[in-house]
Amino acid sequence: MASPPTRWYNIVPDLPEPPPPPLHPGTHRPVGPEDLAPLFPEELIAQEVSTAPFLEIPEEVREVYRLWRPTPLIRASRLEKALRTPARIYLKYEGVSPAGSHKPNTAVPQAYYNARQGIRRLVTETGAGQWGSALAFACAQFDLSCEIWMVRTSYDQKPYRRSMMSLYGATVHASPSPLTTSGAKILAENPTSPGSLGIAISEAVESATPEDTRYALGSVLNHVLMHQTVIGEEALEQLTELDETPDLIVGCTGGGSNFAGLAFPFLREKLKGRINPRILAVEPASCPSFTRGRYAYDYGDTAGFTPLLKMHTLGHDFVPDPIHAGGLRYHGMAPLLSHMYELGLFEAVAKPQRECFEAGVLFARTQGIVPAPEPTHALAAAVEEARRCATTGEPKVIVTALCGHGHLDMAAYDRYLSGEMEDHDLPQERLDASLTGLPHPVE
Ligand SMILES: *Cc1c(COP(=O)(O)O)cnc(C)c1O
Repeated sequence: MASPPTRWYNIVPDLPEPPPPPLHPGTHRPVGPEDLAPLFPEELIAQEVSTAPFLEIPEEVREVYRLWRPTPLIRASRLEKALRTPARIYLKYEGVSPAGSHKPNTAVPQAYYNARQGIRRLVTETGAGQWGSALAFACAQFDLSCEIWMVRTSYDQKPYRRSMMSLYGATVHASPSPLTTSGAKILAENPTSPGSLGIAISEAVESATPEDTRYALGSVLNHVLMHQTVIGEEALEQLTELDETPDLIVGCTGGGSNFAGLAFPFLREKLKGRINPRILAVEPASCPSFTRGRYAYDYGDTAGFTPLLKMHTLGHDFVPDPIHAGGLRYHGMAPLLSHMYELGLFEAVAKPQRECFEAGVLFARTQGIVPAPEPTHALAAAVEEARRCATTGEPKVIVTALCGHGHLDMAAYDRYLSGEMEDHDLPQERLDASLTGLPHPVE
């Protein structure tokens, strides 16, 4: 049986060129550790710029990982049968974690390094609530208090995610909130603002000022992507035990962390010439940063508090339509993945939400597990490929991250089943208007 990894994998030193650095929003110079110290603990800042290929996972973190890791690699034979495909479909299932997604893989080390530095309180934002519940759980493990700004639409629509965060001991606010300057400003302009991840990030970052408080981010940053490589390292070992070689690795992308976590270890093997899978990121058609965004320096949040990140962006004040995959509603993409996409190291496609839910329902009816709305994007692409194999007769091996369960997303499934769900396309004029808000070009 596969064992939980003892090291995280850092892909940066294996790339043909390093990713462009984050820039200070005022000076446009690369940010230094001193710029980030008010936001993150020293160890995570060091990991963010590390060029070591592997980092040891502390025993205290591995002890918490062992509550649910290694996670199962499931052969979806009943789905294959329903599709009459010769393809073999494997799912790395992260829904067995306490929060029900891959997010605790990074929440736990982030809480640990903060606690070790004597920090007492973590603040963050959450969209659908998965990151918030993961961080609330992790803070409970290391005796930290936790305060969370939750995007208004989700706060209203997902009361049980809210309950879960409170159960783990966190305090939850609807965002935009009157508690911060950035939140109050948006409420003054629009008292019924549905909120967005960009706004909630501004509120959390603004609240990270006290000496004993730091900010935590659940995706996008290099150290987050690195923590998630436990997914791919285990999957690599599990496939080897089964004597299987992957032809397609596919994952959904919001900020990019579960996709990177699954794909990076396979990419390392691909760069070394040992395997040659196609690697595919799947994003929502209503929030298509890779496939329709611009590769440019932009802020990570709406108010413009964060460093400038070079990434595929739809513009920092872009408010995505309220699709049900809340975790995929982010205007930007991880800078490391954006850089790798430019280098041609993987491909990306965008999918409309009904096609994704169709795949999610088929999956639930054949395999039993109810997927979160986010990984149904990857499932839709896997199903599409398996159907193609059914016509060509190719016995391809498809591997995807089933990065969370959908037990708290049943309202979305109700809408799909009753025929009330809509696709949201993104008109080009709306995207163009949002892109005019990008900060002045930085070379
Ligand atoms: C947060 C989340 C996502 C999106 O974030 P990534 O960083 O792109 O992985 C996707 N799926 C689930 C289940 C999530 O909780």
